[in-house]
Amino acid sequence: MFKDMEEYAKENRVPIMLPDGIDYLCNYIKEHNIKRILEIGSAIGYSAIRMASVSDDIHIATIEKDEVRYNEAVKNINKYNLVDRINIILDDALNTVIGGEFDLIFIDASKGNNINFFKKYSANLAKYGIIITDNLFFHGLVNDESLIQTKNQRGIVRKIKEFIKFLDTNEDFVTEYISVGDGIAISKRK
Ligand code: SAH
Ligand code: MG
Repeated sequence: MFKDMEEYAKENRVPIMLPDGIDYLCNYIKEHNIKRILEIGSAIGYSAIRMASVSDDIHIATIEKDEVRYNEAVKNINKYNLVDRINIILDDALNTVIGGEFDLIFIDASKGNNINFFKKYSANLAKYGIIITDNLFFHGLVNDESLIQTKNQRGIVRKIKEFIKFLDTNEDFVTEYISVGDGIAISKRK
């Protein structure tokens, strides 16, 4: 299962979640009985399909701005027969207007916009909901800046550090960091 998407991602350099990261996320969803999920950054639908496969009463809304990836995701959602449980939206998530409440908001899009996504979509978070953000390590560059090779990477590392500071000083949420995959943050309302 899912090998087709994993291979496509590898061949086409699509940054889908790392194996232990997605396993951790799926276990978390199972253990916390999470049913309504909003994902920012669908790419080819891999993580949405994995999350939806945890249990057949899970519903997901997921937003992707890149048309090529969106089309690939639509294909995959069809292939895995999840059309009725995964609602994929082609849009820039900075502008999307979405109604409803979610138990989990999973942020996995452009790292520089994490603070914006976090603030914007907190409005759609259920009272006991949580926000999980991916790629807090950025391939180890956040913890070891000597690994940084390009200006672009430096910019992203700076943005991730700003996001971590935003989380650590947040008055409404408490965050724990988990060393799986590329590093994830789990934020809960205080
Ligand atoms: N969650 C996916 C991987 C997402 S990769 C998985 O693990 O399977 C990040 C994706 O976010 C990319 O496809 C990129 O096009 C998308 N993205 C980046 N900024 C975005 C934005 N502002 N709105 C919507 N999608 C965005
Ligand atoms: Mg990611």
